Amino acid sequence: MIRWQILPAIVAALASLTPVGSAQSPPAQPLIAIRAGWLADVVSGQILQNQTIIVRGERIEGVQPASAKIPAGARVIDLSRFTVTPGLIDCHTHLAGDLQSADVLQPLKRSGAQDVMLGALHARQTLEAGFTTVRDVGTYRAFVDIALRDAINDGIVVGPRMAVAGAYITVSTGGGEVTGMARDVVLPADMRAGVANSPDEVRQRVREILNAGADLIKIIVTGAVLTNGTNPGVAEFNEEEIRAAVEEANKYGVKVAAHAHGAEGIKKAVRAGVASIEHGSLIDDEGIRMMKEHGTYLVADIFNGDYIDSVGKKTGWDAEIMRKNEETTDAQREGFRKAVAAGVPMAFGTDAGVYPHGQNARQLPYMVRFGMTPMGALQAATISAAKLIGWDDRIGSISPGKYADLIAVEGGGLGDLSRFSRVSFVMKSGVVVKGP
Ligand SMILES: [Zn+2]
Repeated sequence: MIRWQILPAIVAALASLTPVGSAQSPPAQPLIAIRAGWLADVVSGQILQNQTIIVRGERIEGVQPASAKIPAGARVIDLSRFTVTPGLIDCHTHLAGDLQSADVLQPLKRSGAQDVMLGALHARQTLEAGFTTVRDVGTYRAFVDIALRDAINDGIVVGPRMAVAGAYITVSTGGGEVTGMARDVVLPADMRAGVANSPDEVRQRVREILNAGADLIKIIVTGAVLTNGTNPGVAEFNEEEIRAAVEEANKYGVKVAAHAHGAEGIKKAVRAGVASIEHGSLIDDEGIRMMKEHGTYLVADIFNGDYIDSVGKKTGWDAEIMRKNEETTDAQREGFRKAVAAGVPMAFGTDAGVYPHGQNARQLPYMVRFGMTPMGALQAATISAAKLIGWDDRIGSISPGKYADLIAVEGGGLGDLSRFSRVSFVMKSGVVVKGP
């Protein structure tokens, strides 16, 4: 008899052992309806008026005319005085570590741990400025960018989605090295993780960087403006070495970004099959034709030269760096203008890290000044950038199924793109980061 009396207690005890929620339906995802006065459809190149974007959870569910019925239970965000565009994408940032300064030995004054903590600050500044994704193209301390990317993905740090390069593939004493100290100073190993001087060494470095978790390979094909003793016009790697990087990276399904200023270096990199030319400062007509033919993206930081010029003069940057900046700034803008006219694929990239993070959008009006339409510049910073990264299946346009990465600027249409330096609203993955 006692058996039957205790049975309900046994049943209750067993029920309490069942994992919580296992018998229930998953919690409903937040549903948001965003009323957009204007909406940039970067796929068609059109500005649409009075649209509603339906966001469920972290994804865009649909786009409908404002007159259509909003699903029951949706929270409404009213952006009817604003133009809504996809979240912006910067294909050339350096989030980890200090900003560039007059002190060329600065990279040696902080640890990798300090570099990545600075990166957390820069990541937040970048996201709040409307850049919901970056392609981060290298760091002097190898792999701190991977730590930052993972911390953002895990929700530990607030920042943009990141595609990261892990380190620089560079020749020894070349454009991707920390330079400027006495020749007998030995650098820490994590500052030289990408140094390679033959096709075999390039392959080895590429494997090591990709096995560490990088999303892309950055190869420094020519000398650089910002490393002492290197010459932007000189091709430091030969074509066989660049091709080794491309072949090895492609085995992993990964693309190669090539830092290249000089005309010969650009052509070697394009022939070797890189996905993008970074900077492209001294490009010639043949290089432009080749990039168009191969579908190689140009990622030209055409705002940066003005910043280096003004701040460098004020704060006493090294004379060699200032000279090289002068030699590349106007040439780069003229090359950019010709490349736009020729129809070379363009992706937006600023070299933020040389100048303060969060000011990335200052380059957009420059792109219009040097030959793009406002919509063309916006496409370079959204759908084209997403294609270059290889993430156009998930970001880059306001399309059903993609992540709800959205921004808004005050007023109607695109017009003067300097408004994008004052973004009023930022949403990443359906979460409002900044409200109007
Ligand atoms: Zn850079």
